[in-house]
Amino acid sequence: MQLWFDPAEVFIGGRWFLPASGETLPLENPSTGEEIGRIARGNAVDIDNAVSAAEEVLAGEWGALTAAERGRILMRLSWLITQKVDALAEIEATDVGKPLAQAKNDAIALARYMEFYGGAADKLMGETIPFQNGFTVYTLREPHGVTGHIVPWNYPMQIIGRSVGAALAMGNACVLKPAEEACLSALAFADLARQAGLPDGALNVVPGLGEEAGAALTAHKGVKHLSFTGSVGVGKLVQAAAAQNIVPVTLELGGKSPQVVFEDADLEKALPFLVNAGIQNAGQTCSASSRILVHESLYDELCTHMAAAYDGLKVGPALDDLNVGPLISARQKEIVESFLAMTDENHILSRGRIVEDAPAGGHYVAPTLISGVGPDHSLSQDEIFGPVQVIIPFRDEDHAVEIANGTEYGLVASVWSKDGGRCMRMAKKLRAGQVFINNYGAAGGVELPFGGVGHSGHGREKGFEALYGFSVLKTVAAHHG
Ligand code: NAD
Repeated sequence: MQLWFDPAEVFIGGRWFLPASGETLPLENPSTGEEIGRIARGNAVDIDNAVSAAEEVLAGEWGALTAAERGRILMRLSWLITQKVDALAEIEATDVGKPLAQAKNDAIALARYMEFYGGAADKLMGETIPFQNGFTVYTLREPHGVTGHIVPWNYPMQIIGRSVGAALAMGNACVLKPAEEACLSALAFADLARQAGLPDGALNVVPGLGEEAGAALTAHKGVKHLSFTGSVGVGKLVQAAAAQNIVPVTLELGGKSPQVVFEDADLEKALPFLVNAGIQNAGQTCSASSRILVHESLYDELCTHMAAAYDGLKVGPALDDLNVGPLISARQKEIVESFLAMTDENHILSRGRIVEDAPAGGHYVAPTLISGVGPDHSLSQDEIFGPVQVIIPFRDEDHAVEIANGTEYGLVASVWSKDGGRCMRMAKKLRAGQVFINNYGAAGGVELPFGGVGHSGHGREKGFEALYGFSVLKTVAAHHG
């Protein structure tokens, strides 16, 4: 892995600095468990400096640009990312542990986000509002100011793309706190943004611990909007911090997303989606489909097919590009194994295989397919965040809806059926931010608004919708008689 920046530094005001603490944190390769470098331990001082740099550029060069000029910078950034896709993929694969091809998809998605939001920057319009005689009333979309972005380790590039891309397009200046487990691609992105001509201070990156740098960012009075992607527990802290400063917050949290397979589903088409949505990124995906609900008449057949697919899954180092890589950390592996310990062997339908030469220190867990546990079991209710799927039978449409909607989460759901009317009914009844019909995830679609209900969070990122969230509506009423 070739880095063209020092990962032990923070990026503030367009320049690289040692963190104010003078301290670093270990950088681990999840595929081997080895320390491969050090990252900066940013703290409240760095966050304060980053917010000041953002405020300064908003009052100066960045704030003075037109929407079209902002868009052009994002387009240039998109092009630079495209030139670096392979390098970025290797960085992400090494840092996160995801198979190389999946990491490459993330780098391509990052470029696409910059392209999409670059193109959108000058397309969001206000309205004129019919009002009393003698008035002309119109609305303006303005940036919040400094926006704070807290990102998890599982899809750093995709999540940075969707939140920072939309925020910059609207003219905000960003302070980004990547996860301590995987921050390299955030730093690489910042350097490419500098090369693309983004004015110094419009994007600042402060790696560090959540309870230090993260908490300082959420509490900072200069931050006017918070975008948080991560766990429910930390999401509650972020929302509470936002409440102290009365700033809007977008929460993109966890999920327990179901795929509902009816008796008339095209099984051959569905099968790869059913399996991949559970094991992609070793199941460490907010929108992972960890519950497969299947009509009871198809239950045995689906179990047989999915078990056969699991039999063929290979798990190994990220750069070997197998089906599944390691989990992010020893701690995450422990969590997943504690869930697996809740079931006995006769509920395990099938498991993938960890390759023999996988390094002993890597955090590998064989993908595990489970049947015979009820919809209320912890394995069917709680986000495991590992390569574990549960198959649950249902009797009819109402029963399927009851089970599908029967968790605290509501992020993504899908329906597999050839009956168009049923698909449309289900799409209305399923409690989720996104519903897919006869597919799952639509290949990530940067254009598609994304977000949750319930414990999956609130607010929407991705697509044009994100631009509304990253802007403030102002109404202007002019009286001219
Ligand atoms: P996490 O909540 O532990 O950490 C996420 C980020 O929050 C990290 O950058 C961390 O440093 C920071 N953080 C931790 N404590 C903080 C604090 N007190 N104040 C401010 N920031 C703090 O989550 P994780 O383990 O990194 O990620 C996994 C979770 O993220 C899962 O629940 C997953 O479903 C969720 N997730 C959701 C989406 C989505 O779009 N809905 C996408 C990816 C991941």
